[in-house]
Amino acid sequence: MQEDTIYEELGVPRVVNAAGTKTRIGGSLIRPEAVEAMSRAAESFVRLSDLQVRAGELISEVTGAEAGYVGSGAAACMTLAAAAAIAGDDLGTMARLPETEGIPNEIVMPRTHRNGYDHAFRAAGAKIVDVGNNDNYLGTGSNSTEPWEIADAITEDTVAVGYMEKAFSMPPLEEVVEIAHDHDVPVIVDAAAEVPPRENLSAFVDAGADVVVFSGGKAIRGPQTTGILAGKREYVRSAALQHLDMHVAESVWEPPTELFDKASLAGVPRQGIGRPLKVGKEELVGLIAALEAFVEEDQDELDAEWDARLDIVEEGLDGIPGVTTRREPGGKLMVAPEVHVEIDPGAAGTDAVELVGSLRTENPRIFVGSDDLSDGAFTINPMCLTDEEAAYVTERVRTALE
Ligand SMILES: *Cc1c(COP(=O)(O)O)cnc(C)c1O
Repeated sequence: MQEDTIYEELGVPRVVNAAGTKTRIGGSLIRPEAVEAMSRAAESFVRLSDLQVRAGELISEVTGAEAGYVGSGAAACMTLAAAAAIAGDDLGTMARLPETEGIPNEIVMPRTHRNGYDHAFRAAGAKIVDVGNNDNYLGTGSNSTEPWEIADAITEDTVAVGYMEKAFSMPPLEEVVEIAHDHDVPVIVDAAAEVPPRENLSAFVDAGADVVVFSGGKAIRGPQTTGILAGKREYVRSAALQHLDMHVAESVWEPPTELFDKASLAGVPRQGIGRPLKVGKEELVGLIAALEAFVEEDQDELDAEWDARLDIVEEGLDGIPGVTTRREPGGKLMVAPEVHVEIDPGAAGTDAVELVGSLRTENPRIFVGSDDLSDGAFTINPMCLTDEEAAYVTERVRTALE
């Protein structure tokens, strides 16, 4: 296993990542093609708006959306999308955000779609109006959100419907799109972690979403600080106007017409709400390279690689007293298959919480998936491991328990 990483050199413990693509431990490993492209991007200057047009063309090609744009993460793209839905082409509103007094700013969301990342909508000045409840959990067959509740919540203050895409998201996106479009409001889809499968790049656009955001730094393996905004031209235009650096001399300002037409604007916008979400030339180029590689990737080959790595994990954990493993197929909550490891504290001598906590204090730190801790279990995700690291993780688990 690699021991001379830059993190060791800096005296910072590195992480062996068996948890999957989690931002707090570095997201994913950026593709070598993207690193090389970024290093070359650093060698000269470029007008960022020109580079955004180039990235937008690729995004449009791979998603089927009218237009595309790059922000500093999927969350950043959610802020840009909300800002676009609120301000449209109005320079005055753009300048005021996130202040929205007297300006329609409501984003309607099914309550079960609310999550920590929707703060990114509110950061633009949006107010989230959530509808429905948690009836699915009652086991009565009743739904958490009925489509009529979305329709009922849409008023003249509504600027968009927000939708968090997961394999289990209800009501179906097509139905929500139909309701929103009947009321002339767009649907913004948070699909940050929903690729692979690669087909999902276009699936939500195909379902009628007006804006879809994806993380550039998860399975696409572009720079951590990139996100993809794919959608209708009017929202991409507004997002660009509120994101690009706008300290320009109007007399010589000739923005690319693919993004917006200077003639249709009253003047140069101010630095917008999106300005703190800037994306550098290196990140833009890195995202382009990563996205090109991602759509060429052989998913079957990758699936076989992940499965083989999980075989190493299951063999490595076989026969440890108090440890039971089972394989969870990918494709639902997680894009990759995982090994679910249950710890019986009576037989193992320690419980899952203690074990997972102690693995994190080692050097290198070991992060396993902690979503199932309340069931006395942890998970091992193959996406961000090498085979060697997979064996190392199992060896450390075995040592901790023996
Ligand atoms: C990861 C994630 C985000 C944020 O993506 P970034 O690219 O890290 O900004 C937003 N929403 C959901 C559901 C996510 O899983």
